[in-house]
Amino acid sequence: MRVVLGFDCETDVGSWTPFYEGLIHGTPRFLDLLQRRGITATFFFTGVAAGGHPDLVRHVQNCGHEVGCHSIYHETVGDPLFEIPGVYPLLPEEVDNRLRVATEMVEAAAGRRPVSFRAPRLFGSTAMVNALERLGYLADSSYPMYFYRSRLAPYHPDANDWTIEGTLKIVELPTFADLSMESKDPYGRDLDQWPLFRTEGAEALLRHIDGYAGYCQARGVEPFLCFYFHPWELHPMPQGEIHYGEGSVRPDPFIVKNCGQYAVEQLDLLVEKLQERGAEFFQARQIAEQVQ
Ligand SMILES: [Zn+2]
Repeated sequence: MRVVLGFDCETDVGSWTPFYEGLIHGTPRFLDLLQRRGITATFFFTGVAAGGHPDLVRHVQNCGHEVGCHSIYHETVGDPLFEIPGVYPLLPEEVDNRLRVATEMVEAAAGRRPVSFRAPRLFGSTAMVNALERLGYLADSSYPMYFYRSRLAPYHPDANDWTIEGTLKIVELPTFADLSMESKDPYGRDLDQWPLFRTEGAEALLRHIDGYAGYCQARGVEPFLCFYFHPWELHPMPQGEIHYGEGSVRPDPFIVKNCGQYAVEQLDLLVEKLQERGAEFFQARQIAEQVQ
């Protein structure tokens, strides 16, 4: 089976804080783990994370990994799949410009134009994919398998509907969800892989992976596993209320549970067990290059 590890490089706890402790302290832990396991991955940076930490971006790239783009600020660049307080989507006419600026910010930091993208929260859209195509992107890893549940393998999306196969050059990489189980969530979020590796542990996630591999086998499809993790998950995150600016946020407990050393150990175990199962690891752009 082919595996893509995608690391979304952003502020601590996604959009919920302005801090970069996780990016600064968690990213080296990913790099160390990947080097020990002899694999490479894709690091999707927001424009502001890249612009504020150009040395880190260059270091990631110099370690042999791909640097991709993850919007400017972690804004909703596509269709929101569920409501989040204070989080609103761009207007359709804003999407092109927003993605162009995000791309230029990552390019300025990396010294190389990104060719792989991932939408914050996997909130992608047809307008977004068309904009990425115009910007020359090769890969987009935003398709949330847990929500749409139809595409299993990488595919060229349709210009009028990014969730079906079409003739765009960009390749869509579905992010893994366990479709072998029945969902009890109205949006299917309980099928998603995130953040099981640290809330329930690597072995729990592996049971879902094995279940999904069986689901693929029954359909004659080679299992393709694309994951998303975050540097802030590998660094201890505040539990409870986080104050900044003019108020506080209190992330749901599962959002910050077991961030730090436990998450590092479980991710390492996950990679080890995937390698034992014969998994091969690729960067997002390498998968795009494999798809005809
Ligand atoms: Zn993100």
